[in-house]
Amino acid sequence: MGRWGTVGDGVIGVDVGATRLRVGYFSRDGRLLSRAEARTPSEGGRNSVAKVVAELIESLAAEEDFTAIGIGTIGPLDIYTGRVVGTPNAGIRSFDLKELLEERFGVSVYVVNDATAAVWGEFKGGVGVGKLNVVYVTLSTGVGAGAVVDGNLLIGKSGNAVEAGHIVINYRGAVCGCGGIGHWEAYAGGASIPKLARAIALEEGWDNETAKRAIRGEVDAPEIFRLWRLGDPFASRVINEVTEATAAGLASVINVFDPEVVAVGGSVALKNRDFLRKVVEAVPKYALLDAPPIVEASFGDDAVLYGAAWVAIDPPPTLLRYYLRKA
Ligand SMILES: [Zn+2]
Repeated sequence: MGRWGTVGDGVIGVDVGATRLRVGYFSRDGRLLSRAEARTPSEGGRNSVAKVVAELIESLAAEEDFTAIGIGTIGPLDIYTGRVVGTPNAGIRSFDLKELLEERFGVSVYVVNDATAAVWGEFKGGVGVGKLNVVYVTLSTGVGAGAVVDGNLLIGKSGNAVEAGHIVINYRGAVCGCGGIGHWEAYAGGASIPKLARAIALEEGWDNETAKRAIRGEVDAPEIFRLWRLGDPFASRVINEVTEATAAGLASVINVFDPEVVAVGGSVALKNRDFLRKVVEAVPKYALLDAPPIVEASFGDDAVLYGAAWVAIDPPPTLLRYYLRKA
């Protein structure tokens, strides 16, 4: 008998972010029953992140309460070992997630990329239920995506398929945080928008107060969205650029995957619904076919957490294929 007074057939979902670790205890039908959070450790060895995750799990559930652990993590990932390898965003650049947790809890641990987890959550328990082709896009500090095609979760040879934020939308364009040229994320990631604003201000010779502040590096993305809403002409110029870039990126993803629905999450989208509406209006300009419904993601800020839980509830056959190949 588990702590919740029932046979322990729940699952654990884990969201490993660059700054936060979130753990949820879920019922088998995908309901979040309890949750815990901690900061992602910024220093330590290869098991430091997994140790904090283990403590959070133990704070929520006893071993007999759950049958599997699903993890959605920042990448890049080694799909076979469940190891994050050389992530640019977290303090500890390479760390293990699978081995220690499997040994500690004696259950299967499934590790996928964060947006890959999120699209599985939409497919099994969100806007993608009953559909075979679903895309999830996150517009946040960076831009990411996951895809279910013909009912299959796309994984990729190392677990890093559908890195849509690094689609090239302008091959003579801005340098992305990853070092590549003209990537979607360089024009639409929350971390990139201030750099984009600075470049526009300098290249086009803007000299209003907002542009001057942008040149001095004094405006962040939320501030640019706020000034855009107030009618500031320079902020409007920047948000127009972000809108076109995001519409081009979304249309490219739609052109490649032919989805029945696109779910959009991430803080830049969820906190700026007026911006998202502008983006959706601009997508047809860049899309080959009629664009499918582009809707808000089902689980808000918890998209990865729910998705990770669904990976544990109903492990994607394409992921299991990789684990079998290793064995
Ligand atoms: Zn890039």
